[in-house]
Amino acid sequence: MFIVMITSECAPAAKVGGLADVVFGLSRELEIRGNDVEIILPKYDCMRYDHIYALQAAYNDLWVPYYGQWVHCTVYFGFVHGRKCFFIEPHSDRNFFNRGIFYGHHDDPERFAFFCRAALEFMLKSNKHPDIIHCHDWQTGLVPVLLFDIYKYLGMSHPRVCYTLHNMKHQGVTGDFILREVGLDNTGYYMHYDRLRDNFNPHAINLMKGGIVYSNFVTTVSPTYAEEIKYSDQNFGLGHTLHIHAVKFGGVLNGIDYDVWNPEIDRYIPYNYGIGNIEAKYGNKESLRHRLLLRQEFKPIIAYIGRLDSQKGVHLIRHAIFYALERGCQFVLLGSGPDHEINNYFLHLKHQLNDNPDCHLEIGYNEELAHLIYAGADMIIVPSLFEPCGLTQMIAMKYGTVPIVRHTGGLADTVFDADYAHKPYHERNGYVFHHFNYEGLESAMSRAIGMWYSYPQYFRELMINGMRYDYSWKNPGGHYLNIYEYIRDKN
Ligand code: ADP
Repeated sequence: MFIVMITSECAPAAKVGGLADVVFGLSRELEIRGNDVEIILPKYDCMRYDHIYALQAAYNDLWVPYYGQWVHCTVYFGFVHGRKCFFIEPHSDRNFFNRGIFYGHHDDPERFAFFCRAALEFMLKSNKHPDIIHCHDWQTGLVPVLLFDIYKYLGMSHPRVCYTLHNMKHQGVTGDFILREVGLDNTGYYMHYDRLRDNFNPHAINLMKGGIVYSNFVTTVSPTYAEEIKYSDQNFGLGHTLHIHAVKFGGVLNGIDYDVWNPEIDRYIPYNYGIGNIEAKYGNKESLRHRLLLRQEFKPIIAYIGRLDSQKGVHLIRHAIFYALERGCQFVLLGSGPDHEINNYFLHLKHQLNDNPDCHLEIGYNEELAHLIYAGADMIIVPSLFEPCGLTQMIAMKYGTVPIVRHTGGLADTVFDADYAHKPYHERNGYVFHHFNYEGLESAMSRAIGMWYSYPQYFRELMINGMRYDYSWKNPGGHYLNIYEYIRDKN
């Protein structure tokens, strides 16, 4: 099958969060299974160009319609660790993708609407006729709308669209002028509740809603999140739309890429290890302490790696730091986020804890350090308010780092409590709490820390149970292929 991914992120070249990992890992798995996969991305100035090989112009004169005029674009081709990627560079004074950051500008909806139109124009002009177009999140919600209302009539008659919701918090709610920007001129037609009109703001359009309504199949990134967004307020207003389109909607748990996240072959960690020689993990713990100037003492290291965002439970992360220190643990945090207020909050905390030999907060994005933390820490906390899938807990388990998580979304699908899970002992792999408050968090942390100190043998079993789980792309890759085949063959 020929599959084209249209996306705003692909790891490790253009990565903000889990979306990037998913695009890379799923594409790789699909290729291993004999499919042809191409990925179309914007050409951002802030990409990791050191992860793109043989980058060169592949299509010099792509003219993309924009407000009734044309924007000249160049399309580049390069390999991102073996994946075939096209990068679209518009030559416009709007400077869409040369902003130094991926997201966070007031005109984000315009930037990515333009990208959707440009991606389809590129496919049309370069004669690409994929069986499946797979789009991701609000940034590419307009792709199926443009495909079925414009490009189908220009000759792209057979592609089917699979659309994946990675996070419903961000939907691309914006003014209807965006429609005219991309050539969907019949604004009144699209401003209908059955199409793109936002369910709550009657004067706005919702790009994610467009993706849901127009795609042939809609997935989200874990079965529990699929239920949660149908039946709770976690859909941020799109629950009704999901109900209407329920027959073409389902949850597929993300995988992680064991070529990237595997302590047996990880080149960013000084000591490789696996289930057979788990003691080598403690060499990494020592290196981590050395690198972050933490004291070498008989204590567990608890870590947090992730975006610093209200979704992730900012006050619980802060509480976890102080609770861990109080209970005789060390704490390492690696995080960053677009919200200045939250970033400053943690910078302030870092300042406050600067002289503490048991604590290190690293504010920023650092892929290499993330690997060492996964390998060196004993436990990782993920106290999210909601978590569509969550990759950090799955990565941590592969590294024998025991997750302490809140029971929500993909965390509920992947972490099974050491004491209370309805699972045999050998399938339990972490600690889980339910209530999104200090007491909930402490109940799980306290059990985990107690186990580490008092029953190291049992703690080690939990580590090994986690390492045994197969959270690779093998299973989800199969599920996605089934979905692709189903929509390809359906009339
Ligand atoms: P989300 O998609 O909500 O950001 P996920 O858990 O799905 O969260 O994915 C997070 C991914 O990003 C993981 O691969 C994690 O290791 C990585 N990551 C997050 N923050 C950082 C950071 N500051 N430095 C390095 N890697 C990070």
